[in-house]
Amino acid sequence: MIKVVKFGGSSVASSTQFEKVKNIVLSDPKRKIVVVSAPGKRRKEDNKITDMLYLLSSHVKYNIDASSLIATIAERYEEIKTELNLGVDIKREFEIIMENVKKGAGEEYIVSRGEYLSAKLMASYLGYTFVDAQDVVKFNYDGTLNEELTAEATKSKFEEVGNMVVPGFYGAYPSGEIKLFSRGGSDVTGSLMAMAVNAERYENWTDVSGMLVADPRIVENPARIEEVTYDELRELSYMGASVLHEESVFPVRELNIPIYILNTNKPNEEGTKICKEASAQGRFVTGIAGKKNFKAITVTKSVNADKLTAVSDVLGVFKKFSVKLEHIHTSVDSFTILVNGSEIEKTLYDVLSDLRRVNGIVSVDVDNDLALVAVVGRNMVLKPGISAKIFSIFGKSNINIKTIAQGTKEINIIVGVQNADFEKAIKAVYNEVI
Ligand code: ASP
Repeated sequence: MIKVVKFGGSSVASSTQFEKVKNIVLSDPKRKIVVVSAPGKRRKEDNKITDMLYLLSSHVKYNIDASSLIATIAERYEEIKTELNLGVDIKREFEIIMENVKKGAGEEYIVSRGEYLSAKLMASYLGYTFVDAQDVVKFNYDGTLNEELTAEATKSKFEEVGNMVVPGFYGAYPSGEIKLFSRGGSDVTGSLMAMAVNAERYENWTDVSGMLVADPRIVENPARIEEVTYDELRELSYMGASVLHEESVFPVRELNIPIYILNTNKPNEEGTKICKEASAQGRFVTGIAGKKNFKAITVTKSVNADKLTAVSDVLGVFKKFSVKLEHIHTSVDSFTILVNGSEIEKTLYDVLSDLRRVNGIVSVDVDNDLALVAVVGRNMVLKPGISAKIFSIFGKSNINIKTIAQGTKEINIIVGVQNADFEKAIKAVYNEVI
């Protein structure tokens, strides 16, 4: 059986971090496929290699002298190489990069070199084979991922070379040209590798020991989430709890490969397991997340207007301005649409004026002061009275509930409160249910 292990930027930020990675990888012979990010920050004021590479690409684009920036980036790799006494020729690698840039290689190529070089060093350090993501992560020409080709290419490469290190974050179009995932995309690479070899598990090593039940900036010392289902994770990440790239769940989900979020700096701590069906035991609330600054747009139709037509015309306005909707509540003659404030920031007045022109609409009101708190838990379905309990917590804490929504899978209850009550609401729920 194989374990695919992915190490994030902070786990490969320096030679000391490389040493920790080596201890982790070599302590279990099943850890045969290693995916790495580009080196991240070593300390708070430091820069991430990826950010510097984006900057480098702008220098190249606008013809600004980039020699000192290149030297700074190269120095990060040189330092790791020298301290670990590795045989990778960093100087030559940078010459090749600049030659390719001169030949027209663009931003995605330049930025991908962050993980490319990180993987070169890691492969040499672990004694594993370096496999370029360009050869195994395959995109279609329209920019979508070709999962089938990726699985095939990865599997056959793995069968050929055995233990391997693959750079995260990028792949290639059929032409061979480099294509990046969105930021944080090495998580997706790891997931794809795990899918391709039907791994026993996908370990995502980072600098925290798993996910927390609530945001530690709001709740002091929150408990760790031991197990979370793919569905719960999606709800939590959607509402702001970010630990993994959103798309990393899809490749492993069907094969039911569990993902573990683990801490490179504290490898003995347990972390969080993400899987299809987690145990029914434990707390009824898995996690609490939320976001501020939503808007509730309430549209009232005339008594005689047909509701279905009115709803569909109103939604058409949101579609016209490409505004994503969060929730829709309807009552007899009015309906309220919740949207993320930043989604509609630029188009709000156009949307409102179009809404006012929809046939049969008599008024449109906006509530600008809305935060959403999502209480997520697979075990909530099994227990009657959970919503009542949550609402009573708000009542006891004197928090006015502005709106309520429940997802169709019954794994989340969403409560809208004033922005000013947001932190208080999260603390209150946490203190009562955990
Ligand atoms: N290095 C890339 C980033 O900073 C990708 C990753 O680390 O997953 O976004």
